[in-house]
Amino acid sequence: MSSPISIAVIGGGPAGLMAAAVLATAGHAVTVFDAKPSIGRKFLLAGKGGLNLTHSEPFEPFVGRFGERAAQIEPLLRSFDGEALRAWAAGLGVETFVGTSGRVFPKDLKAAPLLRAWLHRLRAAGVKFAMRHRWTGWTADTGLAALRFETPDGERLVTPHATLLALGGASWPQLGSDGAWAGWLSARGVDIAPLRAANCGFDVGPTAAHPQGPGWSERFASEFAGQPVKPVALGTAGFASRPGEFVITATGLEGSLVYAASRHLREQIDRTGSATLHLDLLPQLTAERVFAEVKHPRGSRSLSSHLKSRLHLSPLKLGLLHELLTREQMHDPAALAAALKCLALDLHAARPVAEAISTAGGVRFEAMDEGLMLTALPGIFCAGEMLDWEAPTGGYLLTASFASGRAAALGLLRWVGRRHTLLQ
Ligand SMILES: Cc1cc2nc3c(=O)[nH]c(=O)nc-3n(C[C@H](O)[C@H](O)[C@H](O)COP(=O)(O)OP(=O)(O)OC[C@H]3O[C@@H](n4cnc5c(N)ncnc54)[C@H](O)[C@@H]3O)c2cc1C
Repeated sequence: MSSPISIAVIGGGPAGLMAAAVLATAGHAVTVFDAKPSIGRKFLLAGKGGLNLTHSEPFEPFVGRFGERAAQIEPLLRSFDGEALRAWAAGLGVETFVGTSGRVFPKDLKAAPLLRAWLHRLRAAGVKFAMRHRWTGWTADTGLAALRFETPDGERLVTPHATLLALGGASWPQLGSDGAWAGWLSARGVDIAPLRAANCGFDVGPTAAHPQGPGWSERFASEFAGQPVKPVALGTAGFASRPGEFVITATGLEGSLVYAASRHLREQIDRTGSATLHLDLLPQLTAERVFAEVKHPRGSRSLSSHLKSRLHLSPLKLGLLHELLTREQMHDPAALAAALKCLALDLHAARPVAEAISTAGGVRFEAMDEGLMLTALPGIFCAGEMLDWEAPTGGYLLTASFASGRAAALGLLRWVGRRHTLLQ
């Protein structure tokens, strides 16, 4: 090992903690700085949803989830993939299991025991923690400069030998990651792709029942906001229809199926100002069967009770039809049957990044070397969700955060080694 050096890891989420572990194990003096009073707040929140740590699918499709950035994420995952993550958790005493969907969770579905064991190990390895230290950039915009931190005791300046930034994206800023770093890095010449909402909800555009939209009619929103639509299949341009579920919100939709399509929807809205979803409200029935049931004579029964008794259509699905179809379409059996199998829904905007599960955009890979060091700022490394990649939910976000934290730490160690050799 080269002589120990002081390293500032800024950001105590999964990426920063993984980096700190690698750096401390190599014998360096590591301090983790974080703006919040405690570590890993978003990780703990992920635990509320069962903590989907990773996914069990084979390597190639796993890497494919990173879309345009698959080529850059691939080497990081080669060195730390889903299996490695499971082994690492087991090493901390946390066994994992593969759920029916292939997603991997800790057996107790909690984040807190894992985080506790991890922090215990990091402290034992000598890692120091400086909480309530909000990094606000450098003392100068060029050249060698100290890191500035806002602390309860006023500003503190720190000049480590090397710095690893793992500041997260811009979603759920109340948990610490507010994306403010983008401005400070841009000011020093780092190329940043704009931070955008990923795995996010959307607002619906004008609907038949609320033509002055955006948003649902008041009646629909007040009756159905918060309710899940299931079973259902959802597709959009570039995203083949797939079964699952989503949730109605006050102004639109959110939930797993919408998150899965969110990149395609966001890109359509960017290109054309709106995006169209196609819903199959009866994915278990063929179009022929649906048409046969719709046109079955209904006698004196209302259309609603007819659809309810012939097709077991829920009040929410019925409400969606009333919201999105004209009166004429509702009373035309062919148009109604077609809509039940392929209901078009216009989306007008993605919800703000602050509400999203994750963030697209960030430090572009082209702004870093293969060790994740900023080429504009030698000695400064970046990892985690602050990098310019995005992926669906399913454990991919955490896996890439861990893997990039490890890769940036290894990059830092190589850089230190090279400098050490040069100085000898
Ligand atoms: C509700 C929810 C549920 C989720 N569930 C899952 C899931 O089940 N599976 C999955 O794979 N992913 C999930 N995610 C996403 C996952 O939690 C993130 O991708 C992951 O936490 C990113 O790790 P990170 O270390 O890059 O950033 P973060 O976890 O965001 O950590 C960044 C840290 O940097 C600190 N920080 C930021 N700015 C500063 C500053 N200026 N100065 C000092 N400190 C700063 C923050 O306080 C924070 O502690 C979920 C996200 C949300 C919002």
